[in-house]
Amino acid sequence: MTIRHHYALDHLNTFGLHCMADSYAEYTDFNDLTAALQTHKGGKMLLVGSGSNLLFMQPEFHGMVLHCTNRDIEVVKEDETGVEIKAGAGWIWDDFVAYTLKHCWYGLENLSYIPGTTGASAVQNVGAFGAEAGEFIKEVECVDLRNGELKILCHDDLDYAYRHSFFKREEELQQWAILHVTYRLSRKFTPRLTYGGVLKEMERRNISADTLTAESLRELIIEIRKSKLPEPDEVGSAGSFFKNPVVPTSQWEELKRLYPTLVSYPAGEGLMKIGAGWLIDQCGWKGKNIGLAGVYEKQALVIVNRGGATGEDILRVCKAVQTDVFKRFGIQLQPEVNFID
Ligand SMILES: Cc1cc2nc3c(=O)[nH]c(=O)nc-3n(C[C@H](O)[C@H](O)[C@H](O)COP(=O)(O)OP(=O)(O)OC[C@H]3O[C@@H](n4cnc5c(N)ncnc54)[C@H](O)[C@@H]3O)c2cc1C
Repeated sequence: MTIRHHYALDHLNTFGLHCMADSYAEYTDFNDLTAALQTHKGGKMLLVGSGSNLLFMQPEFHGMVLHCTNRDIEVVKEDETGVEIKAGAGWIWDDFVAYTLKHCWYGLENLSYIPGTTGASAVQNVGAFGAEAGEFIKEVECVDLRNGELKILCHDDLDYAYRHSFFKREEELQQWAILHVTYRLSRKFTPRLTYGGVLKEMERRNISADTLTAESLRELIIEIRKSKLPEPDEVGSAGSFFKNPVVPTSQWEELKRLYPTLVSYPAGEGLMKIGAGWLIDQCGWKGKNIGLAGVYEKQALVIVNRGGATGEDILRVCKAVQTDVFKRFGIQLQPEVNFID
């Protein structure tokens, strides 16, 4: 374990913002982490994976940044129907997804090509194409930074919901360092095809549901993602900047009557999820900039750094988009991105 002082985080956030941390430590295991924590003399702490959902609001972070580099992998249990795989929190998420599919362990295929790490998958409950990581997470091994204790949190403790987990509760924010995540995956491939244009793309490629394999579904999802989302090393962003708002069915009915092309999905009893990208697009934001930041031309849900932007520049676009969407639709968009002060 090495501690670095005055460490640049520019390569550790996909917005590509400039930020210097007072100190930075990589950890692989409990002992490393404990040693790093002993050098911490107060001030803030921040866990960083790949920084693909972080927005640094200041050019300096006064505190200690912790980064997990553990890439262990172990099958901890198996039976006829599935396997439990314990992975270090430092795995690149998409490498892990590819690894599971190579071993014919199914479930994560719809989550292919999401940037980030396994550790963050358990915090963010990453989701795409009708699947969420939390569905597959059996337990998380983590350290409570308030007292240095090692804990195993089980699925039922983790409070998974849309882009939400136990780790995102106000009182738990930045209080836990994840070491390992255990996923339960299936030996049977059960494709989920009804979200995000998957069926349309299959039709275009003449792939039928009978001939579809998990690998071909992964490829197809990667293609769809590449056609809509910026590559983090080419255009600075954090993916979807806003959450898709969930509204009561009565409000949705009124909106649908006024805007028949409204993009929406059922979100449980009496609730509908509205496509935030559609709302932003209707306000004419696609491809529009304010100074050095703007809205991605291929996907209105993505705020981008046009080069040299600061956190304030990104925030300006965020606020302008929120104001326009609220004025037009009466919906207050909530950021999905983690703001770091
Ligand atoms: C182009 C693009 C597309 C994207 N598409 C999607 C998508 O389809 N679906 C989706 O859900 N997200 C998407 N995202 C957002 C992002 O990929 C996810 O939120 C991802 O899980 C972040 O992983 P990370 O390792 O970069 O975490 P970071 O951004 O570094 O951190 C995210 C949060 O996790 C915490 N954290 C990270 N590692 C640890 C750890 N070891 N222990 C404890 N806490 C930790 C951080 O403190 C922070 O609160 C996209 C982002 C980009 C740039």
